[in-house]
Amino acid sequence: MVNENEEQILKALHQDLAKPKFEAILSELVILTNELHYAISNLRSWMQPEYVSKSLATRFDDCFVQREPLGVVLIIAPWNYPLQLLLLPLVGAIAAGNCAVIKPSEISLATENLMAELIPRYLSQDCYAVVRGGPEETKALLENRFDHIFYTGSQSVARSILQAASVHLTPVTLELGGKCPGFIYGHVNIVAAARRLVWAKFFNAGQSCVAPDYLLCTRATQDTLVPALRQALEDFYGTNPQTCPDLSRIVSPRHWTRLMNLLGRSKGKVVVGGESNEEDKYIAPTVLVDVTEDDALMEEEIFGPILPIITVESLEKGIEFINCREKPLALYVFSDESSVINMVLEKTSSGGFVSNDGIIHMSLPGLPFGGVGGSGWGSYHGRWGFETFSHRKACMLRGWALERLNGLRYPPYRDDKLGW
Ligand code: NAD
Repeated sequence: MVNENEEQILKALHQDLAKPKFEAILSELVILTNELHYAISNLRSWMQPEYVSKSLATRFDDCFVQREPLGVVLIIAPWNYPLQLLLLPLVGAIAAGNCAVIKPSEISLATENLMAELIPRYLSQDCYAVVRGGPEETKALLENRFDHIFYTGSQSVARSILQAASVHLTPVTLELGGKCPGFIYGHVNIVAAARRLVWAKFFNAGQSCVAPDYLLCTRATQDTLVPALRQALEDFYGTNPQTCPDLSRIVSPRHWTRLMNLLGRSKGKVVVGGESNEEDKYIAPTVLVDVTEDDALMEEEIFGPILPIITVESLEKGIEFINCREKPLALYVFSDESSVINMVLEKTSSGGFVSNDGIIHMSLPGLPFGGVGGSGWGSYHGRWGFETFSHRKACMLRGWALERLNGLRYPPYRDDKLGW
């Protein structure tokens, strides 16, 4: 389906988010086909019964863990990577042997329309159904009993998903967002750091759950970082990013207004960007300094092309800043010094962790992708997706041997039978 309809998919993604073809191929098509190939190559070994070590009393038994499908799973997707975040969980669900109901986001309408048209042509309609609609339709859908719910989206909606799931005691995977910090500390290749940060932040116009939400650094680092960020932005998007085809647009007028409100309420100082155009749903890649902890930009996940910088005095203060907040989906540390990287790695908790780059960890199917605490429950990608959609059945296949030994555990009980 993906190969035969590549042009249509790219067109839909462009209609929804003005997604540049290069970004769409990299983050929607390649990541999905990699996942498919990885699952096909490894499924045979994932499916094998997993034999466990035995005790004396079970030495003649077959003791193993067998994966079995959960049944019918519900996958609810957001709009920012509308193809990948809908179909990548489906790879895990199918690999594990489940049927699935999939619910694309109504906000990325062109991709939703295309999926509703294509999926029934490629997958058995007895086993896989696409349900369309927004919050009301999703709420109605959630009244049904599913064997698992896999939800990707915001923390606020996740609460109502959990409430609905509690009625049927349905297990839930939550792939949520939050504020992912980028922490630049100590000796660092500032030019390379700025280029990697700009790429990770402004990819998809900042509408990535793993985008660096804000940057932490010392005031001295900020003095060299800001010109390096400005230069990287100019190298990537030119002097007028609005005319650059490599920058996505904000998904809807509502989301554009939310971002402009945040920017308007911020007391930070814009040092790069700041321009916008409502009709074009455009916001220039924007960097702000003098942002404080209580700034509007620190109240919620930004999820757009706005990058505040907050200064901290020391490595310890930066770690404290991160640890005072909700555990992030990803944490990025930039430093030449491995002691700095190791210290942040050891002393913080986050869904994922990358040193000297951003967002790139999600492309590797060997790594579990998911949050911790408020940034999500559970994980997927590669084997982790297969496991998420499988029940691990504890199996003990026993014959009729050792009945005399079993006599030790039958009544009438006597203390000397315990051998203590
Ligand atoms: P959203 O929560 O508004 O919507 C996601 C899905 O939920 C959509 O399909 C939507 O139709 C449905 N929905 C919306 N309101 C609902 C309600 N009241 N009841 C039931 N269903 C409802 O999220 P979004 O705006 O599409 O996505 C943005 C959020 O998703 C951000 O917080 C981002 O960080 C997060 N996100 C996380 C990941 C991840 O992998 N962890 C990936 C992408 C996005």
